[in-house]
Amino acid sequence: MVTISSERATERERLEHANDALAEEMVGRLKAQQAELLAAQKLRMHVERTPLGVVEWDRQHRVTAWNPAAEAIFGFPEHEALGRTATEFIVPASGARRDAMWRELGLSRDGTKITLDNVTRAGRSIQCEWYNTPLVDPGGRIVGFASLVQDVTERLNTERTIHYMAHHDALTGLPNRRLMQDRLNQAIMQARRKQRHVAVLFLDLDRFKLVNDTLGHDSGDYVLKDVARRLASCVREIDTVSREGGDEFVVILPDLERPENARIVAEKILREFARPVEIGSQEVHITTSIGISHYPNDATDVNQLLKHADGAMYQAKDSGRNTARFYTSDLNYLLSRRLEMEGRLRKGIELEEFFLRYQPQVDIATGRIAGLEALVRWNDPSKGEVLPSDFILVAEELGLIVQLGEWVFRTACRQLKAWEAEGIGDVVVSVNLSPRQFMSRRLSASLLAIVRESGVDPRSVAVEITESMVMRSMEQSIEILAQLRSVGIGVSIDDFGVGYSSLAQLKRLPASGLKIDRSFIANVPEDASSGSITETIIAMARSLKLRVVAEGVETRAQLDFLRAKHCDAFQGYLFSRPLTALEASAMLRAQAGSRATATG
Ligand code: C2E
Ligand code: MG
Ligand code: MG
Repeated sequence: MVTISSERATERERLEHANDALAEEMVGRLKAQQAELLAAQKLRMHVERTPLGVVEWDRQHRVTAWNPAAEAIFGFPEHEALGRTATEFIVPASGARRDAMWRELGLSRDGTKITLDNVTRAGRSIQCEWYNTPLVDPGGRIVGFASLVQDVTERLNTERTIHYMAHHDALTGLPNRRLMQDRLNQAIMQARRKQRHVAVLFLDLDRFKLVNDTLGHDSGDYVLKDVARRLASCVREIDTVSREGGDEFVVILPDLERPENARIVAEKILREFARPVEIGSQEVHITTSIGISHYPNDATDVNQLLKHADGAMYQAKDSGRNTARFYTSDLNYLLSRRLEMEGRLRKGIELEEFFLRYQPQVDIATGRIAGLEALVRWNDPSKGEVLPSDFILVAEELGLIVQLGEWVFRTACRQLKAWEAEGIGDVVVSVNLSPRQFMSRRLSASLLAIVRESGVDPRSVAVEITESMVMRSMEQSIEILAQLRSVGIGVSIDDFGVGYSSLAQLKRLPASGLKIDRSFIANVPEDASSGSITETIIAMARSLKLRVVAEGVETRAQLDFLRAKHCDAFQGYLFSRPLTALEASAMLRAQAGSRATATG
């Protein structure tokens, strides 16, 4: 009995369990169904409500799904869209990249992003960003494509506006400096490849401030806008007219066959400006000054080209405004300047418009004038006393330096002879040589001839050459200097310390003296590094048995420093400025007189 009833009880329990399980499974299934339904509903809602267009395509690229946002973007309702390919309705027939989307998508299984020109049902052009993914079945076969699409026309327009504003001048609409520099850079790179020229025209309106001040800013603005229009009308499509700011404009002429073409454009601009600007009933005459620089003749980078054009513009202003000037290295300009300078220099030499000043060199131990440096001056009838820095270089370029240098040397020797004859010539007169002169084959022969002809003691004559002149050709320098030294003529290394000669090189030179450049002296004793350089040069010179002279001594403190370091001699305003021959004679006479009284 007990067994039967207990068997039944277990049977019932089993059934109840099974029932429960069944019920649970059903609930679970229902729940899952509901969840799936919910998910699908959610997804549908999502697709229905999202502002992104959701489009699906079959393998032939025909629309299989089209959400309300897609309708909103393109204007086509779902029933008009289904079954059509993009090129049949939303890609314009003229679109350059008609098939770009599918081509790109065909290459990628991961999906692509692409911005396309599209067209709406109303025929409006829009730009859309497409995110496309292939739809793949579990077997890996592509069964279609899904796209998310967004109308970005407005955003791109805003971006374009911002970009435009960052690169253009608000008043005239011309490219601004930033864009101009960009374009110039491109023009340079292109010209380098194609071996062409680029011209930069820098314009500054003449007396524009006056217009602004007298007629008001509105009129000023009007003039600037008019100028912008006129400039644009003078140039080719590929040229750039830009506004630098204020009343300054820059024009870039890329891809020129010959640099001279820039002159034609400049002349056209000047002619265009001849017509007055009409403001209401007023006529305003505006002129401009133009500076021109060229790639590659004047410079090869953006900044230098602009700088040179700017500099040339100031020259145009200087020479009376309303004109164009090429940067000075321009051949035409240089040629005219050179011709003029050459004529004046030649005449100067012929008419002996040059004279020498003599600056005493004082022996630090004795306080005696031990030497005089001859410094050439040009007494230009139109400009007065011209310093060598303004004409020596030109004379070099023109090849007049050899002649001028010989004149200087001869004049110095004759002066020395006169002092010797008077009994006050117990000094060494030194003469500067220029690089070109130094390299001339005839140098030593001509100097020796002049010494002989003037009858001076060669040991009272010295030449000064700079470090860099010697370094250019060490072997030739040694040979020339040795010839001069062999007859007793002194050789001093001028401006020492600014070059790069090494002690080893200096050792090989048959020099007799060395002059410390005045840039070091100017900073002693305050500046420690100038002080130690000066000290080192003195010590080095003394070890090589070179007589060392300090240049440009202007203060007592500098002299004291030099004396403490055992410098041999000094030269500078502290003792005397460069003197005329008459003044120098008087000074030597006074020295001889005091010695005569001292000894006699
Ligand atoms: P340099 O040979 O170094 O001549 C010294 C220059 O320093 C001279 O300028 C002189 O007037 C200047 N000077 C002298 N004492 C002082 C001073 O205390 N303070 C300052 N600040 N300057 C001082 P200058 O006469 O203008 O000559 C300049 C350069 O022109 C010379 O430099 C020399 O290289 C060159 N030069 C002068 N005469 C001739 C010449 O006949 N032929 C050649 N080829 N070059 C010459
Ligand atoms: Mg000198
Ligand atoms: Mg010097």
